[in-house]
Amino acid sequence: MQLGAIRFPLDDRVADASAHAGARIADLTAQLSILRAIVDDLNVGIVVLDAQRRVTFINRAFRHFWRVPDDMITDGLTFVRLMYHSRGSRTYAISHDRLGDYVARQMDLIRAGEERPLQIRFPNGAAIQFRCKALPDGGRLLTYGNVSELARQADAFEQLACVDGLTGVYNRRHFLTLAEIEWSRFQRYRRPLALLMVDIDHFKSVNDRYGHDVGDTVIKSVAQMLQCHRRASDIVGRLGGEEFALMLPEATLDNAATVGERLRRFVEEAAVKAGEIILSVTVSIGASASDDGTAGVEALLKQADVALYQAKHSGRNRVCRFEPRHERPADG
Ligand code: GH3
Ligand code: MG
Ligand code: MG
Repeated sequence: MQLGAIRFPLDDRVADASAHAGARIADLTAQLSILRAIVDDLNVGIVVLDAQRRVTFINRAFRHFWRVPDDMITDGLTFVRLMYHSRGSRTYAISHDRLGDYVARQMDLIRAGEERPLQIRFPNGAAIQFRCKALPDGGRLLTYGNVSELARQADAFEQLACVDGLTGVYNRRHFLTLAEIEWSRFQRYRRPLALLMVDIDHFKSVNDRYGHDVGDTVIKSVAQMLQCHRRASDIVGRLGGEEFALMLPEATLDNAATVGERLRRFVEEAAVKAGEIILSVTVSIGASASDDGTAGVEALLKQADVALYQAKHSGRNRVCRFEPRHERPADG
Protein backbone atom coordinates (compact mmCIF):
# COMPACT_ATOMS: atom_id res chain seq x y z
CA MET A 1 0.00 0.00 0.00
CA GLN A 2 1.52 3.21 -0.92
CA LEU A 3 1.13 6.04 1.53
CA GLY A 4 0.66 8.52 -1.22
CA ALA A 5 -2.40 6.67 -2.37
CA ILE A 6 -4.07 7.00 0.98
CA ARG A 7 -6.62 9.79 0.98
CA PHE A 8 -7.29 11.38 4.31
CA PRO A 9 -10.71 12.99 4.87
CA LEU A 10 -8.94 16.37 5.35
CA ASP A 11 -7.54 16.20 1.81
CA ASP A 12 -11.04 15.91 0.45
CA ARG A 13 -12.13 18.93 2.49
CA VAL A 14 -9.15 21.02 1.27
CA ALA A 15 -9.80 19.94 -2.32
CA ASP A 16 -13.49 20.79 -1.90
CA ALA A 17 -12.66 24.17 -0.36
CA SER A 18 -10.22 25.13 -3.10
CA ALA A 19 -12.64 24.01 -5.82
CA HIS A 20 -15.32 26.02 -4.06
CA ALA A 21 -13.07 29.11 -3.76
CA GLY A 22 -12.11 28.80 -7.42
CA ALA A 23 -15.76 28.67 -8.42
CA ARG A 24 -16.52 31.61 -6.18
CA ILE A 25 -13.71 33.71 -7.66
CA ALA A 26 -14.88 32.82 -11.17
CA ASP A 27 -18.38 33.79 -10.11
CA LEU A 28 -17.21 37.12 -8.65
CA THR A 29 -15.10 37.84 -11.73
CA ALA A 30 -18.12 37.18 -13.95
CA GLN A 31 -20.28 39.43 -11.77
CA LEU A 32 -17.60 42.14 -11.83
CA SER A 33 -17.37 42.08 -15.61
CA ILE A 34 -21.19 42.31 -15.86
CA LEU A 35 -21.08 45.26 -13.48
CA ARG A 36 -18.31 46.89 -15.53
CA ALA A 37 -20.31 46.38 -18.71
CA ILE A 38 -23.36 48.00 -17.08
CA VAL A 39 -21.34 50.95 -15.78
CA ASP A 40 -19.67 51.27 -19.17
CA ASP A 41 -23.03 51.31 -20.89
CA LEU A 42 -24.60 53.95 -18.60
CA ASN A 43 -25.45 57.26 -20.16
CA VAL A 44 -23.61 58.95 -17.30
CA GLY A 45 -19.90 59.63 -17.38
CA ILE A 46 -18.16 58.00 -14.41
CA VAL A 47 -14.64 58.49 -13.14
CA VAL A 48 -13.20 56.98 -9.99
CA LEU A 49 -10.13 58.58 -8.41
CA ASP A 50 -7.93 57.22 -5.66
CA ALA A 51 -6.85 59.29 -2.68
CA GLN A 52 -3.95 60.72 -4.72
CA ARG A 53 -6.42 61.90 -7.40
CA ARG A 54 -5.19 59.31 -9.85
CA VAL A 55 -7.72 57.86 -12.22
CA THR A 56 -8.58 54.24 -11.39
CA PHE A 57 -11.65 53.86 -13.60
CA ILE A 58 -13.26 55.72 -16.51
CA ASN A 59 -16.41 54.47 -18.21
CA ARG A 60 -17.16 54.66 -21.90
CA ALA A 61 -19.64 57.57 -21.66
CA PHE A 62 -16.95 59.76 -20.09
CA ARG A 63 -14.32 58.71 -22.62
CA HIS A 64 -16.72 59.38 -25.45
CA PHE A 65 -18.00 62.76 -24.27
CA TRP A 66 -14.61 64.13 -23.30
CA ARG A 67 -12.92 62.52 -26.29
CA VAL A 68 -10.33 60.70 -24.21
CA PRO A 69 -8.10 58.59 -26.49
CA ASP A 70 -7.47 54.97 -25.40
CA ASP A 71 -3.72 55.44 -25.24
CA MET A 72 -4.18 58.16 -22.65
CA ILE A 73 -5.63 55.74 -20.11
CA THR A 74 -2.51 54.46 -18.42
CA ASP A 75 -1.61 53.61 -14.85
CA GLY A 76 -0.94 56.69 -12.81
CA LEU A 77 -2.97 59.04 -15.05
CA THR A 78 -3.89 62.00 -12.87
CA PHE A 79 -7.22 63.74 -13.03
CA VAL A 80 -5.53 67.10 -13.64
CA ARG A 81 -3.91 65.68 -16.78
CA LEU A 82 -7.24 64.31 -17.89
CA MET A 83 -8.85 67.73 -17.52
CA TYR A 84 -6.08 69.50 -19.38
CA HIS A 85 -6.48 67.03 -22.21
CA SER A 86 -9.85 68.67 -22.94
CA ARG A 87 -8.01 71.90 -23.76
CA GLY A 88 -7.03 70.25 -27.04
CA SER A 89 -10.47 68.78 -27.71
CA ARG A 90 -12.12 72.19 -27.16
CA THR A 91 -14.92 70.80 -25.04
CA TYR A 92 -14.75 73.53 -22.38
CA ALA A 93 -16.99 76.57 -22.66
CA ILE A 94 -14.24 78.82 -21.36
CA SER A 95 -11.34 80.56 -23.00
CA HIS A 96 -7.97 78.85 -22.88
CA ASP A 97 -6.37 81.51 -20.73
CA ARG A 98 -8.99 80.91 -18.01
CA LEU A 99 -8.78 77.13 -18.19
CA GLY A 100 -6.03 76.87 -15.55
CA ASP A 101 -8.18 78.72 -13.05
CA TYR A 102 -11.19 76.55 -13.94
CA VAL A 103 -9.23 73.32 -13.47
CA ALA A 104 -7.93 74.60 -10.13
CA ARG A 105 -11.49 75.37 -8.97
CA GLN A 106 -12.71 71.90 -9.98
CA MET A 107 -9.80 70.36 -8.12
CA ASP A 108 -10.75 72.41 -5.03
CA LEU A 109 -14.32 71.04 -5.24
CA ILE A 110 -12.99 67.50 -5.62
CA ARG A 111 -10.50 67.93 -2.79
CA ALA A 112 -13.23 69.25 -0.49
CA GLY A 113 -15.48 66.33 -1.49
CA GLU A 114 -18.11 68.96 -2.34
CA GLU A 115 -21.30 67.08 -3.25
CA ARG A 116 -23.29 70.05 -4.53
CA PRO A 117 -23.94 69.49 -8.26
CA LEU A 118 -22.22 71.84 -10.68
CA GLN A 119 -23.61 72.52 -14.13
CA ILE A 120 -21.10 72.84 -16.97
CA ARG A 121 -22.27 74.42 -20.24
CA PHE A 122 -20.52 73.91 -23.56
CA PRO A 123 -20.30 76.13 -26.62
CA ASN A 124 -22.48 73.69 -28.61
CA GLY A 125 -25.34 74.09 -26.09
CA ALA A 126 -24.74 70.77 -24.32
CA ALA A 127 -24.92 70.79 -20.53
CA ILE A 128 -23.38 68.36 -18.07
CA GLN A 129 -24.22 68.06 -14.41
CA PHE A 130 -21.11 67.22 -12.44
CA ARG A 131 -21.25 65.57 -9.01
CA CYS A 132 -18.45 64.53 -6.71
CA LYS A 133 -18.82 61.94 -3.96
CA ALA A 134 -16.16 61.19 -1.35
CA LEU A 135 -15.38 57.46 -1.08
CA PRO A 136 -14.45 55.71 2.20
CA ASP A 137 -10.84 55.11 1.05
CA GLY A 138 -10.29 58.83 0.44
CA GLY A 139 -10.95 58.49 -3.29
CA ARG A 140 -13.70 60.23 -5.24
CA LEU A 141 -16.55 59.08 -7.43
CA LEU A 142 -17.19 61.70 -10.13
CA THR A 143 -20.35 61.52 -12.22
CA TYR A 144 -21.18 63.58 -15.30
CA GLY A 145 -24.88 63.44 -16.24
CA ASN A 146 -25.98 64.74 -19.63
CA VAL A 147 -28.65 67.34 -18.81
CA SER A 148 -28.56 69.06 -22.23
CA GLU A 149 -32.23 68.42 -22.93
CA LEU A 150 -33.29 69.75 -19.52
CA ALA A 151 -31.06 72.80 -19.97
CA ARG A 152 -32.48 73.37 -23.45
CA GLN A 153 -36.02 73.19 -22.08
CA ALA A 154 -35.14 75.55 -19.22
CA ASP A 155 -33.69 78.02 -21.77
CA ALA A 156 -36.82 77.71 -23.90
CA PHE A 157 -39.08 78.36 -20.89
CA GLU A 158 -36.99 81.34 -19.89
CA GLN A 159 -37.17 82.63 -23.45
CA LEU A 160 -40.96 82.15 -23.47
CA ALA A 161 -41.29 84.01 -20.20
CA CYS A 162 -39.22 86.99 -21.40
CA VAL A 163 -40.06 87.40 -25.05
CA ASP A 164 -43.23 88.64 -26.73
CA GLY A 165 -44.63 85.83 -28.86
CA LEU A 166 -45.69 87.98 -31.83
CA THR A 167 -42.64 90.19 -32.30
CA GLY A 168 -39.73 88.43 -30.58
CA VAL A 169 -38.76 91.57 -28.62
CA TYR A 170 -38.89 91.56 -24.80
CA ASN A 171 -42.34 91.53 -23.28
CA ARG A 172 -43.45 94.27 -20.93
CA ARG A 173 -42.59 92.37 -17.74
CA HIS A 174 -39.06 91.51 -18.83
CA PHE A 175 -38.45 94.94 -20.32
CA LEU A 176 -39.34 96.49 -16.95
CA THR A 177 -37.04 94.05 -15.15
CA LEU A 178 -34.12 94.96 -17.43
CA ALA A 179 -34.99 98.65 -17.24
CA GLU A 180 -34.83 98.52 -13.41
CA ILE A 181 -31.38 96.89 -13.61
CA GLU A 182 -30.16 99.60 -16.02
CA TRP A 183 -31.66 102.27 -13.81
CA SER A 184 -29.78 101.10 -10.69
CA ARG A 185 -26.55 100.74 -12.62
CA PHE A 186 -26.77 104.18 -14.22
CA GLN A 187 -27.81 105.86 -11.00
CA ARG A 188 -24.83 104.33 -9.22
CA TYR A 189 -22.37 105.65 -11.81
CA ARG A 190 -24.37 108.82 -12.46
CA ARG A 191 -24.53 108.07 -16.17
CA PRO A 192 -27.22 109.44 -18.49
CA LEU A 193 -30.13 107.16 -19.34
CA ALA A 194 -32.99 107.88 -21.76
CA LEU A 195 -36.21 106.26 -22.85
CA LEU A 196 -38.26 106.37 -26.05
CA MET A 197 -41.90 105.37 -26.15
CA VAL A 198 -43.08 104.52 -29.66
CA ASP A 199 -46.70 104.12 -30.74
CA ILE A 200 -48.01 103.27 -34.23
CA ASP A 201 -50.31 105.99 -35.58
CA HIS A 202 -53.94 105.24 -36.42
CA PHE A 203 -53.25 101.56 -36.05
CA LYS A 204 -56.88 100.74 -35.36
CA SER A 205 -57.70 101.80 -38.90
CA VAL A 206 -55.10 99.29 -40.26
CA ASN A 207 -56.94 96.53 -38.41
CA ASP A 208 -60.33 97.83 -39.51
CA ARG A 209 -59.33 98.20 -43.14
CA TYR A 210 -57.10 95.17 -43.78
CA GLY A 211 -57.90 92.80 -40.92
CA HIS A 212 -56.17 91.65 -37.78
CA ASP A 213 -53.53 89.50 -39.56
CA VAL A 214 -52.24 92.46 -41.55
CA GLY A 215 -52.30 94.44 -38.29
CA ASP A 216 -50.10 91.76 -36.72
CA THR A 217 -47.66 91.95 -39.63
CA VAL A 218 -47.43 95.73 -39.20
CA ILE A 219 -46.68 95.33 -35.48
CA LYS A 220 -43.98 92.73 -36.30
CA SER A 221 -42.43 94.96 -38.97
CA VAL A 222 -42.22 97.97 -36.68
CA ALA A 223 -40.66 95.76 -33.97
CA GLN A 224 -38.03 94.63 -36.51
CA MET A 225 -37.28 98.22 -37.46
CA LEU A 226 -36.75 99.06 -33.79
CA GLN A 227 -34.50 96.03 -33.37
CA CYS A 228 -32.29 96.81 -36.32
CA HIS A 229 -32.01 100.45 -35.29
CA ARG A 230 -30.90 99.82 -31.75
CA ARG A 231 -27.34 99.78 -30.51
CA ALA A 232 -26.15 96.60 -28.78
CA SER A 233 -26.74 98.08 -25.35
CA ASP A 234 -30.25 99.41 -26.10
CA ILE A 235 -33.22 97.42 -24.81
CA VAL A 236 -36.39 97.07 -26.87
CA GLY A 237 -39.70 95.94 -25.38
CA ARG A 238 -43.31 95.68 -26.47
CA LEU A 239 -45.28 97.41 -23.77
CA GLY A 240 -48.61 96.24 -25.20
CA GLY A 241 -50.73 96.43 -28.39
CA GLU A 242 -48.88 98.66 -30.87
CA GLU A 243 -46.75 100.39 -28.30
CA PHE A 244 -43.02 99.84 -27.76
CA ALA A 245 -40.29 101.23 -25.53
CA LEU A 246 -36.55 101.62 -26.06
CA MET A 247 -34.19 102.08 -23.16
CA LEU A 248 -31.07 103.96 -24.24
CA PRO A 249 -28.13 103.69 -21.84
CA GLU A 250 -25.58 106.52 -22.05
CA ALA A 251 -28.06 108.72 -23.97
CA THR A 252 -29.06 112.23 -22.99
CA LEU A 253 -32.44 113.70 -23.89
CA ASP A 254 -30.86 115.31 -26.98
CA ASN A 255 -29.35 111.95 -28.06
CA ALA A 256 -32.68 110.22 -27.51
CA ALA A 257 -34.54 112.82 -29.58
CA THR A 258 -32.01 112.37 -32.41
CA VAL A 259 -32.34 108.58 -32.30
CA GLY A 260 -36.14 108.93 -32.16
CA GLU A 261 -36.18 111.25 -35.18
CA ARG A 262 -34.01 108.86 -37.22
CA LEU A 263 -36.29 106.02 -36.28
CA ARG A 264 -39.45 107.98 -37.10
CA ARG A 265 -38.14 108.79 -40.55
CA PHE A 266 -37.02 105.22 -41.14
CA VAL A 267 -40.50 103.87 -40.34
CA GLU A 268 -42.17 106.55 -42.46
CA GLU A 269 -40.02 105.70 -45.48
CA ALA A 270 -40.23 101.92 -45.12
CA ALA A 271 -42.81 99.90 -47.03
CA VAL A 272 -44.52 97.26 -44.92
CA LYS A 273 -45.36 94.16 -46.90
CA ALA A 274 -48.23 91.96 -45.73
CA GLY A 275 -48.88 89.34 -48.42
CA GLU A 276 -50.10 91.20 -51.48
CA ILE A 277 -50.63 94.38 -49.53
CA ILE A 278 -47.96 97.02 -49.27
CA LEU A 279 -48.65 99.85 -46.88
CA SER A 280 -46.81 102.58 -45.10
CA VAL A 281 -47.17 103.43 -41.43
CA THR A 282 -45.95 106.16 -39.16
CA VAL A 283 -45.10 106.28 -35.49
CA SER A 284 -45.26 108.93 -32.80
CA ILE A 285 -42.46 108.98 -30.26
CA GLY A 286 -42.08 110.43 -26.77
CA ALA A 287 -38.59 110.87 -25.31
CA SER A 288 -37.54 111.28 -21.70
CA ALA A 289 -34.22 111.18 -19.87
CA SER A 290 -33.16 110.80 -16.26
CA ASP A 291 -31.95 113.76 -14.25
CA ASP A 292 -31.30 114.28 -10.55
CA GLY A 293 -35.00 114.68 -9.89
CA THR A 294 -36.23 111.54 -11.70
CA ALA A 295 -37.64 109.08 -9.19
CA GLY A 296 -37.17 105.84 -11.17
CA VAL A 297 -38.16 103.79 -14.20
CA GLU A 298 -41.87 104.35 -13.57
CA ALA A 299 -41.31 108.12 -13.61
CA LEU A 300 -39.20 107.89 -16.76
CA LEU A 301 -41.96 105.89 -18.48
CA LYS A 302 -44.59 108.35 -17.35
CA GLN A 303 -42.58 111.26 -18.70
CA ALA A 304 -42.08 109.54 -22.06
CA ASP A 305 -45.82 108.84 -22.10
CA VAL A 306 -46.57 112.54 -21.54
CA ALA A 307 -44.24 113.42 -24.43
CA LEU A 308 -45.88 110.74 -26.62
CA TYR A 309 -49.26 112.22 -25.82
CA GLN A 310 -47.93 115.58 -26.99
CA ALA A 311 -46.67 114.00 -30.22
CA LYS A 312 -50.11 112.50 -30.87
CA HIS A 313 -51.92 115.72 -30.10
CA SER A 314 -49.67 117.88 -32.18
CA GLY A 315 -50.32 115.90 -35.36
CA ARG A 316 -48.68 112.40 -34.98
CA ASN A 317 -45.66 111.14 -36.98
CA ARG A 318 -43.33 113.20 -34.81
CA VAL A 319 -40.99 113.07 -31.85
CA CYS A 320 -41.66 115.09 -28.71
CA ARG A 321 -39.37 115.28 -25.74
CA PHE A 322 -40.49 115.54 -22.16
CA GLU A 323 -39.55 118.85 -20.61
CA PRO A 324 -40.45 119.37 -16.97
CA ARG A 325 -42.68 122.29 -17.94
CA HIS A 326 -44.69 120.05 -20.27
CA GLU A 327 -47.77 118.86 -18.52
CA ARG A 328 -50.69 116.98 -19.94
CA PRO A 329 -53.05 119.65 -21.41
CA ALA A 330 -56.10 120.19 -19.25
CA ASP A 331 -58.47 119.78 -22.23
CA GLY A 332 -57.15 116.16 -22.66
P1 GH3 B 1 -53.27 106.53 -32.22
O1 GH3 B 1 -52.73 107.12 -33.46
O2 GH3 B 1 -53.88 107.57 -31.32
O3 GH3 B 1 -52.25 105.71 -31.50
O4 GH3 B 1 -54.45 105.59 -32.63
P2 GH3 B 1 -54.46 104.02 -32.74
O5 GH3 B 1 -55.58 103.61 -33.61
O6 GH3 B 1 -53.13 103.54 -33.13
O7 GH3 B 1 -54.64 103.59 -31.23
P3 GH3 B 1 -55.77 102.85 -30.47
O8 GH3 B 1 -55.27 102.73 -29.08
O9 GH3 B 1 -57.10 103.53 -30.65
O10 GH3 B 1 -55.85 101.45 -31.15
C1 GH3 B 1 -54.92 100.47 -30.98
C2 GH3 B 1 -55.47 99.21 -31.58
O11 GH3 B 1 -54.50 98.17 -31.57
C3 GH3 B 1 -56.64 98.65 -30.81
C4 GH3 B 1 -56.37 97.18 -30.69
O12 GH3 B 1 -57.45 96.41 -31.13
C5 GH3 B 1 -55.20 96.95 -31.59
N1 GH3 B 1 -54.32 95.91 -31.14
C6 GH3 B 1 -53.76 95.71 -29.90
N2 GH3 B 1 -52.97 94.65 -29.90
C7 GH3 B 1 -53.01 94.11 -31.14
C8 GH3 B 1 -52.37 92.97 -31.75
O13 GH3 B 1 -51.61 92.23 -31.13
N3 GH3 B 1 -52.63 92.73 -33.05
C9 GH3 B 1 -53.47 93.55 -33.78
N4 GH3 B 1 -53.66 93.27 -35.06
N5 GH3 B 1 -54.08 94.60 -33.22
C10 GH3 B 1 -53.85 94.89 -31.93
MG1 MG C 1 -51.49 103.87 -31.81
MG1 MG D 1 -51.39 102.70 -28.41
